[in-house]
Amino acid sequence: MKVAIIGAGAMGGAIARGLISSAPRFITSPGDLCAANPSPRRLAPLAEAGASTTCSNIEAVRDASLVILCVKPWLVKDVITEIKDHIDYSYAEIAVVAACVTISDLNEWLHKESAGSRSPSFCIVMPNTAVSLCKSMTFQVNGNGTCPLTLKAFGQLGEVMVIEERLLPAATSIASCGIAYALRYIRAAMEGSVELGIRAPLAQEMIVQTLIGAASLLQEPGTHPETEIDKVTTPGGLTIRGLNAMEHSGFTSAVINGLKASTPR
Ligand code: NAD
Repeated sequence: MKVAIIGAGAMGGAIARGLISSAPRFITSPGDLCAANPSPRRLAPLAEAGASTTCSNIEAVRDASLVILCVKPWLVKDVITEIKDHIDYSYAEIAVVAACVTISDLNEWLHKESAGSRSPSFCIVMPNTAVSLCKSMTFQVNGNGTCPLTLKAFGQLGEVMVIEERLLPAATSIASCGIAYALRYIRAAMEGSVELGIRAPLAQEMIVQTLIGAASLLQEPGTHPETEIDKVTTPGGLTIRGLNAMEHSGFTSAVINGLKASTPR
């Protein structure tokens, strides 16, 4: 099974590293993965990790069973036009990782006369940068068929939810942009910790483990954030004082406004 990653930059490179580290579960060995980028500098670390690399998109997609497109959204149409006649639509699946591209766009761009009545299997995939650690929250919107190879590949890289296209803009804001929001909370908590006399590296360790604990509590069935918050907020206690002080500074509305602002329209 050959996997081609077109546009191996930040996201494509992270996907490549995740697939390499999960071998042999999806790809058998790093050499089954071919990463393409016009810049050889971007490809060097992936070549060192054992992937095959090329500056030619056409060479990368030849014989590939799964083509993952990771270029910037405004380049998707041109890259599809370049590669579509070199992909075998009878078996290959195409996964497009790009915000603001729709199933209807892809249907139009991927159409090729030579494929006869057969349409390619394609989907939109929205991971986050935790793919490189196989901890991504990834969304998949199927365009045609169920795209089982894409589901399996991204299933090695964390959790995958297959969703309807209408939910994708909000899901992108929550989980792809959301990585930055969670990290900004950590940074803010570190700034507070330093003011309280704790060195930043030690504070980071404390905060990260606290967040892992909080997230793990919510992975138990039937839990809700407010139920868990109730358990730590004694009436008249310190935690409720802290929470109320954060809310006076607009904590919840800042998060809601941020999510709305980063939902692609
Ligand atoms: P990036 O700029 O880091 O990577 C894109 C790469 O494409 C670059 O290295 C560039 O050299 C290469 N490229 C440019 N023209 C090309 C061409 N014609 N053929 C092949 N490669 C070409 O960008 P990124 O952050 O990795 O984003 C890529 C896609 O991933 C975007 O569409 C974005 O919406 C999506 N995405 C990114 C993130 C994220 O957190 N970075 C999250 C979810 C989705």
